[in-house]
Amino acid sequence: MALSGIEIYKFLPKTNCKECGFPTCLAFAMKLAQKGVELSKCPYVSDEGKKALEAAARPPIRLITIGDGERKLEVGNEVVLFRHEKTFFHPTGLVVRIKDSGGDAAVKQAAEAAAYSVERVGMNLKLNGIAVENASGNADTFVKCVEAVKGNKVPLILMSKDAAAMEKALEKVASDMPLIYAATKDNFAQMAELAKKYKCPLAIYEPDSLDALADLAQKVMDTGVEDIVLDPGARDFAKSLTALTQIRRMAIKSSFQPLGFPVITFPGEGASSDDEAAMLAAQQIAKYAGIVVLDNFSSSVVYPLLTLRLNLYTDPQKPIQMTPGVYEIGSPKAESPLGVTTNFSLTYFSIAGELEASGFPSWLLVCDTEGLSVLTSWSAGKFDAAKIAKSVKEFKLADKVSHHKLILPGGVAVLRGELEEELPDWKIMVGPREAVDVGGFLKKQWTS
Ligand code: SF4
Repeated sequence: MALSGIEIYKFLPKTNCKECGFPTCLAFAMKLAQKGVELSKCPYVSDEGKKALEAAARPPIRLITIGDGERKLEVGNEVVLFRHEKTFFHPTGLVVRIKDSGGDAAVKQAAEAAAYSVERVGMNLKLNGIAVENASGNADTFVKCVEAVKGNKVPLILMSKDAAAMEKALEKVASDMPLIYAATKDNFAQMAELAKKYKCPLAIYEPDSLDALADLAQKVMDTGVEDIVLDPGARDFAKSLTALTQIRRMAIKSSFQPLGFPVITFPGEGASSDDEAAMLAAQQIAKYAGIVVLDNFSSSVVYPLLTLRLNLYTDPQKPIQMTPGVYEIGSPKAESPLGVTTNFSLTYFSIAGELEASGFPSWLLVCDTEGLSVLTSWSAGKFDAAKIAKSVKEFKLADKVSHHKLILPGGVAVLRGELEEELPDWKIMVGPREAVDVGGFLKKQWTS
């Protein structure tokens, strides 16, 4: 947890000797709190002070990187329990597990999962990796499957409790920085050696209790492994929620280092059906999994989970916004319809999608409402007649369309009169309240 300047000052010698380049110890402390200077600039901090200040500078949940390159997965480094307190920083990694006993069908499913991509509010949402489980118990089968999946160029999780099989697989893919899953109380010494030798993060599995999990984490840390992922083995809804919440609280509120790591979950192991597994995955994305490993790839499950994740990991103080301006939907001409909306991305993409589907190439004027939706921005005074009229003039819409008709969102029909006063040369039409009705509205009412 970050310390204030005053809290840091308590650990300084308070002699004001100026050797750090600052006139007083307090001035140095203030700069240190802003991360504008290194602690090492003061040669007189006691060892105890150094330890306390270095511990305070550590993030409560360590950032763990799996894989490398464009699609590397970063999880952890969260600093709050609740999104509204600040924001969540590193979205839960969604990974699909295949078994090495599944043959070509499993490898094909891995390829489909790795290639899956869906567009939402202007972003391409994707899965984050493939977990390969050594279900066959045969090291050569495991290595063959891992090698077959490696070509998808997504982060890998290697799942085997057999250290010899794990090393054989690491010899082939260690440069891709896979997550090693998992060290247990029986094999942690060998697994920790592999993690250090191949410089890969290591997951630890300890289902007995959180105390036992913390003990195992400490033992692994004592071997010199720093990048750890926790599996408390809590599988069903209630146990998972309880364990993951306690781990998060211990990390954030108590800065308890042995539990200050991201958590990996396996919703398929705590559910009695695929539907229940999807619901459990949703719970774990919300609270507080770093990585969720799904047992199947199905776009009908993955799409809503990716959407949920996007919503939770969007900064609540910065809605996803479009750049204000005039957008061409299709290839509009001078006689094509012109509508106006706000720059909240979800609103824009809902309307743009319906316009595309309507078969009417159109112009869409997007006003700057600081990323708020139509009714929210109207009620906050950020989407009014004066602003719309100003945007119409700023983006020279009178030169783009020949008909001088502007379609208002139905939710703000009340603006029509004022807008007619602001734009006396224009005809203001009131469109539907819902984006889904845009196509029907144009078919019935649009004539240029
Ligand atoms: Fe204080 Fe250390 Fe700076 Fe001297 S070098 S003024 S003791 S902070």
